[in-house]
Amino acid sequence: MSFEMPAAAARPRKDKPLRPMIETHTEHTHADPKVEWEKQRDTVRAIEQLGLQRYAENLPDIQSAFELDDHCLRCIDEGTPGGIHLAGSGILMDEVKAIEASKAAKVDGVYSHAGCGAAAMFAKQKGLDMTNPDEYGRQWAKQLAERLGVPYKGHIEKSDMKRPADFHNARVAYYDGTGSFDPSRVADLPPGFVISRRHTDAANAQSEADVAVSIATGDHGFGTLITDKEPFYLMVVGDPEDPNFSANKLQAEVDAIASNSNGRVKVLGFTRPRAMKKAA
Ligand SMILES: [Zn+2]
Repeated sequence: MSFEMPAAAARPRKDKPLRPMIETHTEHTHADPKVEWEKQRDTVRAIEQLGLQRYAENLPDIQSAFELDDHCLRCIDEGTPGGIHLAGSGILMDEVKAIEASKAAKVDGVYSHAGCGAAAMFAKQKGLDMTNPDEYGRQWAKQLAERLGVPYKGHIEKSDMKRPADFHNARVAYYDGTGSFDPSRVADLPPGFVISRRHTDAANAQSEADVAVSIATGDHGFGTLITDKEPFYLMVVGDPEDPNFSANKLQAEVDAIASNSNGRVKVLGFTRPRAMKKAA
């Protein structure tokens, strides 16, 4: 099955090429990347000093990062936390694979969102009109929901996203082997993309990690603030009970991304801490 180009977006336009989404009517506008970067600096330093495993284990509320409110599919974007994640809700995948992954993850609804980098990549890869690539994301999400027989949950607008409207404040991407990780529930975890590795094969998850890195290091992300001294972190989240999704195994899957990054991407890993037993 092929992706159907929405008629409205396919119309030829003479507008300028797509610019970073600049809005005029929200207070989210003009967030300063440097200020956002500084806000996260102490957290990142603490992780670097303690190591991610110890850092995570020391967070009193870490278990709540492994609870999901729903099983709806949304983007890997740090602004769309919770639930199940595929880049652009799967827009960059073969549709059959996206359906398989969604079924395996028991997806019960599909979202699209504003300012979707994956939808923009899709449009670029296909040579489509770039005036409003979000429209491709919306159409894809609707179509996937229909194929799955679950509701299309809507288009998450910028004002409802959990990041500044005009740029990505993710300093990290979580490569999640547990399938239930939501870092936004724990204030001391840095905001990050979430790649649901648990629900998609290694090749696809790796390419989604690449997408996250290219967004974060590009014009819509922290960009040149990310250096070999202050890198972007791919943080793998291992399942303590399933060797197929152990932190070591996941780390090996993304190591190549780091080695091809001139030091701007580093891999850290942790295993989901086991819940503490209550004292008798
Ligand atoms: Zn997106």
